[in-house]
Amino acid sequence: MSDQRKPTTNDAGIPVSSDEFSLTVGADGPILLQDHYLIEQMANFNRERIPERQPHAKGSGAFGHFEVTQDVSAYTKAAVFQPGTKTDVLIRFSTVAGERGSPDTWRDPRGFALKFYTSDGNFDLVGNNIPIFFVRDPMKFQHFIRSQKRRADNGLRDHDMQWDFWTLSPETAHQVTLLMSDRGIPKTWRNMNGYGSHTYMWVNADGERFWVKYHFKTDQGNDFLTQEEADRIAGIDADYHRRDLFEAIKRGDYPTWTLKMQIMPFADAETYRFNPFDLTKVWPHGDYPLHEVGRLTLNRNPTDFHTEIEQAAFEPNSLVPGTGVSPDKMLLARLFSYADAHRARLGVNYKQIPVNRPKVSVQSYSKDGVMRIDNVTDPVYAPNSKGGPQADTQRYPEIAGWSVSGEFIRAAYTPRADDDDYVQPRALIRKVMDDAQRERLVSNAVGHLKKGVSEPVLQRAFEYWRNIDQEIGERIENGVKK
Ligand code: NDP
Repeated sequence: MSDQRKPTTNDAGIPVSSDEFSLTVGADGPILLQDHYLIEQMANFNRERIPERQPHAKGSGAFGHFEVTQDVSAYTKAAVFQPGTKTDVLIRFSTVAGERGSPDTWRDPRGFALKFYTSDGNFDLVGNNIPIFFVRDPMKFQHFIRSQKRRADNGLRDHDMQWDFWTLSPETAHQVTLLMSDRGIPKTWRNMNGYGSHTYMWVNADGERFWVKYHFKTDQGNDFLTQEEADRIAGIDADYHRRDLFEAIKRGDYPTWTLKMQIMPFADAETYRFNPFDLTKVWPHGDYPLHEVGRLTLNRNPTDFHTEIEQAAFEPNSLVPGTGVSPDKMLLARLFSYADAHRARLGVNYKQIPVNRPKVSVQSYSKDGVMRIDNVTDPVYAPNSKGGPQADTQRYPEIAGWSVSGEFIRAAYTPRADDDDYVQPRALIRKVMDDAQRERLVSNAVGHLKKGVSEPVLQRAFEYWRNIDQEIGERIENGVKK
């Protein structure tokens, strides 16, 4: 061993005598149980993998900052959005349905999860590269994800199962159209937008409330892979997108996104022609234009994938003062579901893992539990007269809410004048796409439907597409039958 290199130790810091040889009785004899270093190495190895996320298992990420370039203080008092503020961020990109080692270039929405380490604690925005979602009620979410993953019997992915679910759930039409479009396989993570997707709330210093949507627009330009390109790459480099981001940052080619917000006055939500809280719908820009806020820059790669990316925990319930939730049922369910998933996967003290730890001091009354590493100081209860932390009700009033009344009921949202599952995907096809994009949409949908979709699901799929757009539906049916 050269003098410069540090000696190997075991996990207790005790120097070990060999990196190569187990302790045996003579060179050819049996291994001794007292070789605790060998045992530690084997036991650690057996426990290296933690459960993968369900869903969004495959992904990667980077660090950077978010800098506010415009003044939106009229709409929010959140420290992270005040003019000139620069905040450290972590981002994780992912696919949804694939497992931890699956190809990055499978057709799928991409996760776009952000953690802002703000001066008011961590603010997480757990979005996607597509501004909407397949379903609008969390009761269907689990079923939806299972239908996109693998069958129970043979463990295979199954397009029949996917289309069975989609065609029985017409609210999926908008997202399926986006998925089958160019946006379904971004060229790189750098070449895609990120959307908060849900409607959230902003509250200004006067307590005035607004409904908002977050749009991170890529400054690299939107770009895509054709199905053929993506299939080829999947066989050559399953980690294509992960590698691209890492290499770009390594060479100093830092990707950026411009955050733009749609902002709806609080009272508009009552009468807006679409249900503004329905996650399967966008707010057309003509109704609510984009307001620029600032720029997100990624400029630092992880140095340890496991501790910084695999153990990163994003949760939409991490909302700082000046931000809040909306009556979107999917969002309200996610407020529980994400933190619960982290407790199951990482343990109850996952927020003490350095990547998840806020940069401000924590004065919580949470206590003990597996893998807790912070000291808990007395007193361990509130209220107390012993100098423990005390909620500042004056400074942090609970105002980011709304009023409701009604009976307990299981029902769909009350429909609005323009609420229709097909009107927005139709607008996408007719108003936004050009001929070449429409051609690729047809070709992608035909290719997908030709892989194992059987009757009666196939007939329902043709009807589904004709409901979105008569001509596109006919072209898809003809393409499948050819
Ligand atoms: P606009 O023409 O004002 O906006 C269309 C949006 O679509 C732009 O933000 C653009 O984002 C995005 N876009 C462009 N090409 C594609 C594509 N091939 N696939 C997906 N998105 C694309 O129209 P409206 O706001 O009235 O919306 C019309 C339709 O556009 C909607 O029904 C929805 O399907 C889709 N859309 C709307 C968004 C919104 O928030 N209003 C956001 C994204 C899509 P960019 O220029 O950054 O690529």
